Amino acid sequence: MTKFDTLLVANRGEIACRVMRTARAMGLRTIAVYSDADANARHVREADEAVRLGPAAARESYLNIAAVIEAARRTGAGAIHPGYGFLSENGAFVEALDQAGIVFVGPPASAIAAMGDKSAAKARMAHAGVPLVPGYHGDDQDDALLKAEADKIGYPVLLKASAGGGGKGMRVVESDAGFQAALDGCRRESQAAFGDQRMLIEKYLTQPRHVEVQVFCDAHGNGVYLFERDCSVQRRHQKVLEEAPAPGMTAELRRDMGEAAVRAAQEIGYVGAGTVEFLLDADSSFYFMEMNTRLQVEHPVTEMITGQDLVEWQLRVAMGEPLPLAQDELTITGHSFEARLYAEDPEQDFLPATGTLTHFAMDLEGAGLSSFEKGRARVRLDSGVESGDVVSMHYDPMLAKLIVHGDDRDQALATLNRALAALDVQGVITNRAFLQRLATHPAFKNAELDTRFIERHEATLF
Ligand code: ADP
Repeated sequence: MTKFDTLLVANRGEIACRVMRTARAMGLRTIAVYSDADANARHVREADEAVRLGPAAARESYLNIAAVIEAARRTGAGAIHPGYGFLSENGAFVEALDQAGIVFVGPPASAIAAMGDKSAAKARMAHAGVPLVPGYHGDDQDDALLKAEADKIGYPVLLKASAGGGGKGMRVVESDAGFQAALDGCRRESQAAFGDQRMLIEKYLTQPRHVEVQVFCDAHGNGVYLFERDCSVQRRHQKVLEEAPAPGMTAELRRDMGEAAVRAAQEIGYVGAGTVEFLLDADSSFYFMEMNTRLQVEHPVTEMITGQDLVEWQLRVAMGEPLPLAQDELTITGHSFEARLYAEDPEQDFLPATGTLTHFAMDLEGAGLSSFEKGRARVRLDSGVESGDVVSMHYDPMLAKLIVHGDDRDQALATLNRALAALDVQGVITNRAFLQRLATHPAFKNAELDTRFIERHEATLF
């Protein structure tokens, strides 16, 4: 591993701004890349230098490996941070960087590949002693055999495309009568989306929570967990509100999940920041779901409760340094929430919204809040936009993330609600009112969480 003094951020929006903020604080020169649609975007304005990649279409810009590498060469960038999405979990990109002698701020290509295929990943995890949802993830894909496995697991079962992602090629099967039709449907969907028809079958948990563990490994064999996040509040498998720590965890369960997550990472030779996602059942059983081999959107809630800067950890690990802290030096202080502000219209089935942000600000003072309190961040707005910016339809509609910290969950939630009210966004429709309804919902206040929270409370949320 090599030291570097210039970092290219191969991303856009809030995450590009957020990564550059830490890079600057560490004394690194920052390079932005952009598509034609983003020529005047905030991440371009904030970088020391910016390079055009190509037209608006992501395929021709942010996903264009050759153009990104050429931009790094031209600007003398010794390392590339991929953010999340785009090229962040693309093994071919990592291999191309290895060949070009550019440091990838992330795991080795082999670790990305090990987690890229759901069936293969499950086999590895079983080997590492990480608990899996009861199910079938074998190579034999014969119809009759799959049906027999589903019968054995017991309905409802969940069919999942081995090569899947983003909820595609996934179906719940309520009873054996519907199995064959669901299998055919999933295979068609998976073939179309991923060019692959392999399926795995899992027991369908009816009220699980989504609890994920932040892990970090360095290149010297050290691995730690930075505790968990509860991301159960999802709409169509998209996270909306996240929090850390997860409510109701015992110290023992936290340690068991944390240690399982570190085992998962070390099994595949992981280096850098990763997230191991688990389903947590009502009886406190937890099951490995998948590992995301990148920095997550919701990483700030972990930063808020640990007081650590995860991007700084990533950059240090990429420079070959050992992890900044050992497991017993990490502690949880207070509680944190994150709300994702999307340019979308909840009144119109969450249709993405576009336009010019005539006004985008948060009046903290007016709300009686301050961004720092008792020496730590209390309200944080990670944003990719400012007043006057144009929101186009080309990319993910997330505008910003509002992150708060409190001494306990109740205090943090009260702060979240005040900060949401202090947000003033004009010119583009957002989901702010929907976030407010969620964050003031009695069931949410009581932490009655599971992945169908939004579905179950539809009547009172819309
Ligand atoms: P993808 O990679 O397509 O996002 P995941 O395997 O991560 O698919 O699952 C997405 C979501 O589906 C999870 O966050 C969870 O809400 C739900 N889910 C996945 N597996 C199960 C299961 N066995 N039982 C119940 N819900 C599940």
